[in-house]
Amino acid sequence: MTDRPYVFYELTNSLCPQCLHKVEAKIIVQDGQVYQIKNCLTHGVQKVLISTDADYYKKARAFLKPGQLPLRFNTATERGCPYDCGLCPDHEQHSCLTLIEITDRCNLECPVCYADSAPTRGSHRSLEQIEFMMDELVKNEGEPDVVQISGGEPTIHPQFFEVLDLAKSKPIRHLMVNTNGVRIARDREFAQRLADYGPGFEIYLQFDSLKPGPIETLRGENLLEVRMQALAHLNEFNISTTLVVVLRQGLNDQEIGEILEFAIQQPCVRGVTFQPIQHAGRTENFDPATDRLTLAEVRQQILKQSSLFTPDDIIPVPCHPDCIAMAYALKADGQAYPLSRYMDPALLLDAAGNTIRYEEDPSVRGKVFGLFALNHSPQSTSHAVHDLLCCLPKIEAPEALGYQNIFRVIIMEFLDAWNFDVRSVKRSCIHIVHPDGRVIPFDTYNLFYRNEQLASRIPTTSAFAMEKV
Ligand code: SF4
Ligand code: SF4
Repeated sequence: MTDRPYVFYELTNSLCPQCLHKVEAKIIVQDGQVYQIKNCLTHGVQKVLISTDADYYKKARAFLKPGQLPLRFNTATERGCPYDCGLCPDHEQHSCLTLIEITDRCNLECPVCYADSAPTRGSHRSLEQIEFMMDELVKNEGEPDVVQISGGEPTIHPQFFEVLDLAKSKPIRHLMVNTNGVRIARDREFAQRLADYGPGFEIYLQFDSLKPGPIETLRGENLLEVRMQALAHLNEFNISTTLVVVLRQGLNDQEIGEILEFAIQQPCVRGVTFQPIQHAGRTENFDPATDRLTLAEVRQQILKQSSLFTPDDIIPVPCHPDCIAMAYALKADGQAYPLSRYMDPALLLDAAGNTIRYEEDPSVRGKVFGLFALNHSPQSTSHAVHDLLCCLPKIEAPEALGYQNIFRVIIMEFLDAWNFDVRSVKRSCIHIVHPDGRVIPFDTYNLFYRNEQLASRIPTTSAFAMEKV
């Protein structure tokens, strides 16, 4: 008898990257890596690498926690996932972070843009439309945890500050602006005015590279000076900032360590989010078969390129452990100290059983889970860190610990038609408000729901009829 050259690990449903029909997918483990093998009856067999670290892939399951429900759902479960977004009653997680896109337009036209944005594309949304979208989200969430004002490029909206005022009048715990930084760089007064919206306000700044070449490849022009000027203004006015690094295999993935080191030196920077390119929208010069990166690869590169973190530091986020990993450090005087230096890593991980043990004390366990949840506002994050440190016997928590001392590294992988996994997408907690008020997972929004052209790719109801649940 001959053995298979792999271990059949589990079965899920994925999508055919060509026709976007749902197809059965085997998850297999081969040579320490994890693949999906899927078979579309029309387009044949695809083998897609979904993790370069089988141990981490398996370990992530131990972080699962019960999903948290929104106050209401927006659609019925009729055709089956992912064709009922959303949120439909079959979704397993409320919105930890929600984007509200206030414009289709942008002052750039990046070769890589999931929103397919451009200077003359689409239109700006009216204040009434934007308020409707915010109110629909509030009906879902009560007090939404983190809302990102996004686009297109939100800072070019002619009523941008009125939008911020509107958002501040809603029960939103933490407000972010997702921006390419061009306006912040070129208009100092504009940057200064942003400072009025803190606390509870943060800039989510596109920051892909410290070199001109990769920026040009991803953004179509050399924006290095723009990025640096934007950061200079954000530092000057001490506006909390997260650097967002879109990663492409072989382009900027060797800069991860350098970017982390750079980020720690920036007083305004509270963390870095690494985001492998999602194959959606405009993806010029990106071959999803060869250029994609998995969450596990990014994690491995962080560990390889930076001495800041050890494997026990970068752990799966409990709301969506397949797609989000996070590490926390305390930052002071240009240095960062991972939380694990304050905790015995054995408290976090029982290596022998490869299960998460955290700590026998349920209150400590709860705090660790709470800390590594994505729905924290900066204020609650610093409280959670402080509380956690106080709970652990070896640690003396600094009295003056505040959000300025937080350094949070996130790896956020989005699903596309290549790596799609129905099991995983149901746990997505990063959502986008559709102009019609539905709240839709980021992953499926960019595949099917962003516009009518994408919606036409949803297979007909009859082909996927299922019983209502
Ligand atoms: S992704 Fe979530 S909201 Fe969309 S169809 Fe699946 S379960 Fe429903
Ligand atoms: S990726 Fe961002 S900056 Fe680039 S075109 Fe799209 S919306 Fe504009």
